Amino acid sequence: MDAYTQRLLHNRVTETLEAIDTTVAAADDEVLAVLGATELPMAVAALRALLDGHVLDDDGRCRACRTRVLRRPTPGCTIAATVHHAFTDHQRGRRALTAAATA
Ligand SMILES: [Zn+2]
Repeated sequence: MDAYTQRLLHNRVTETLEAIDTTVAAADDEVLAVLGATELPMAVAALRALLDGHVLDDDGRCRACRTRVLRRPTPGCTIAATVHHAFTDHQRGRRALTAAATA
């Protein structure tokens, strides 16, 4: 894939994520239910596709996250860690919003 097509693809994914964020922020319960049924499975499929290439070996190292050719992979997986941190940051944000709404 050439650089122009890569940029278009990246922009499309970014725009889709921004559209979902904007819609969720303004959605009522009915719209949230529709989004949960349509966009959530897409997000789960995208994350699974991303993580499918990042499998830890018996030593807990991810070959896909190897930083240099012929160098042993570093421990863990940067992609899995990034996804995990995004989830926990999102959960903390939701808890803070819930606490502020009930205070
Ligand atoms: Zn990895």
